[in-house]
Amino acid sequence: MAEQAPKTDNHYDVIVVGAGFAGMYMLHKLRGLGMSVKVLEAGTGAGGTWYWNRYPGARVDIESMEYGYSFDKELEREWRWSERFATQPELLRYVNHVAEKFDLLRDMQFETRVETAVYDEDGQGWTVQTDTDEEFSARFCIMATGCLSTPKNIDILGIEDFKGPVYKTFDWPREGVDFHGQKVGIIGTGSSAIQTIPEIAKQAAHLTVFQRTPNYSIPARNAPISAEMQADWDANRDTYRAQARSEGFAAITESNENLALETSPEDREREYERRWKFGGLRLVAAYADLLTDEDAKKTAADFVARKIRETVTDPKTAGILTPTPDMYPIGAKRICIDTGYYETFNRDNVSIVSLRDAPIDKVTENGLNTTNEEYGFDALVLATGFDAMTGTLNRMNICGVNGAKLKDKWADGARAYLGLMVAGFPNLFVVTGPGSPSVFTNMIMAIEQHVEWIADCISHVNERQISTIEAAEAAEEEWVSHVAEVASATVLQRADSWYMGANVPGKTRVFMPYIGGFPAYAEKCNEVAANGYEGFELRGAAEARA
Ligand code: NAP
Repeated sequence: MAEQAPKTDNHYDVIVVGAGFAGMYMLHKLRGLGMSVKVLEAGTGAGGTWYWNRYPGARVDIESMEYGYSFDKELEREWRWSERFATQPELLRYVNHVAEKFDLLRDMQFETRVETAVYDEDGQGWTVQTDTDEEFSARFCIMATGCLSTPKNIDILGIEDFKGPVYKTFDWPREGVDFHGQKVGIIGTGSSAIQTIPEIAKQAAHLTVFQRTPNYSIPARNAPISAEMQADWDANRDTYRAQARSEGFAAITESNENLALETSPEDREREYERRWKFGGLRLVAAYADLLTDEDAKKTAADFVARKIRETVTDPKTAGILTPTPDMYPIGAKRICIDTGYYETFNRDNVSIVSLRDAPIDKVTENGLNTTNEEYGFDALVLATGFDAMTGTLNRMNICGVNGAKLKDKWADGARAYLGLMVAGFPNLFVVTGPGSPSVFTNMIMAIEQHVEWIADCISHVNERQISTIEAAEAAEEEWVSHVAEVASATVLQRADSWYMGANVPGKTRVFMPYIGGFPAYAEKCNEVAANGYEGFELRGAAEARA
């Protein structure tokens, strides 16, 4: 590792905002370039998503073996995952192991939320201010703030009137919660709820699930990692990693060019059944036209609907839990991966209320009224989701050239070149920003690809004594159009999903992630770099834009 440059007071070469998987690797990588780095993090520890989302049942929905970092062979060899889909506590243990192994904590400052980031008028970099009343400055600022890190505002009338505790999946008490003997209500049936409902149901006297829109969920088939599986990974890890990187989702999903609509119903059924039994994300990657064709999607949707009806014994409950293609095409809302979700509704102590039939009127002192009925409970759980992809950055006061605010620029939808940099905001990078594959991939692969690209870019800039790098307006425009065009060739825009910003009242409906696939995207990023950072404006000290 190169010698670290000395720093003066609160000035650094780079400020990284966020100490999740992205911030951790970014710090490690930049240290390797000999740069002084400060990581600022709101939580009391590292881990990002896995620090905050401690609700019972929280697990990764990508196979653990594929989810760990791939950048360090020794780390890969020495870490042993215990289950196919690791739990949040295990993921946090992994985070702490990585932090210790690479001695990351000494450059991280916790309990420090960045509130403002302003591009300096002299064009030399960024000044950030925190809720601890501290000021930090740096040439480069890197937002490693995650895609699902700011909860959406709770837009439910009367929530403050509820007398019992209100728990939020996205900010769960560190000491845990004991629901034994309690009547519990939960609002939401997205991935977080689908993971936590089976666990809360095991404790609660009664659990009432308030569902507005049903989701498609696929069993994880979680299990301990067997000695055979471990040995296979140990022997073939590089091959498996390469295979993941070659697939659209940057995960091993057995994606292929076969078309559902050109496959006989019998063969299709066999294939869906095989993937359903395997568990995890593979079912939705069974056929190439599942992304683009409504009729193809219907074949997968019908298959899952049948599985729900076979699992849930009460037909009325099964009906409420089953999405129909007129609500949204399967996959247009993020597919959930569960452990015993549908089975939980066969328990005597669990009931479901369809808010489609009777919406929430208001939360009361002792429960909740729908327009039809009153429900009482002792504790309320909110699993209501996030202001995804842009929420965290828009809430931070980020000001670029001439004081222009990022949130104003993004008022009609996020705009970023390759999801990495924004025109008008020189020397500011975003890890897995809008317009990159990010949430449409195994996030770790997307994070590693971005971190490495950003580190190479900063290295390039430093070697040539360039003072600023900034996305060019024209390149940004072209990329944003390309992202929209690729999305419009699919049926993903038909859902009121968080991909579209449609879960947040008032947010502009724009499809935010890039769904052209991880390999094509990574190739484009490499090409841009190889062509001297094509589409970026690089300026020397004398011409720095103020
Ligand atoms: P989400 O998918 O956005 O789900 C939020 C749920 O709350 C939806 O069912 C939504 O209903 C409901 N809701 C929101 N506001 C409501 C209101 N005012 N009244 C009634 N219902 C309301 O959020 P999430 O479950 O936290 O998951 C977000 C994403 O995080 C996932 O898609 C996934 O990418 C990630 N995640 C991953 C994992 C994992 O890896 N294992 C686990 C959890 C989350 P509508 O659908 O009708 O809006």
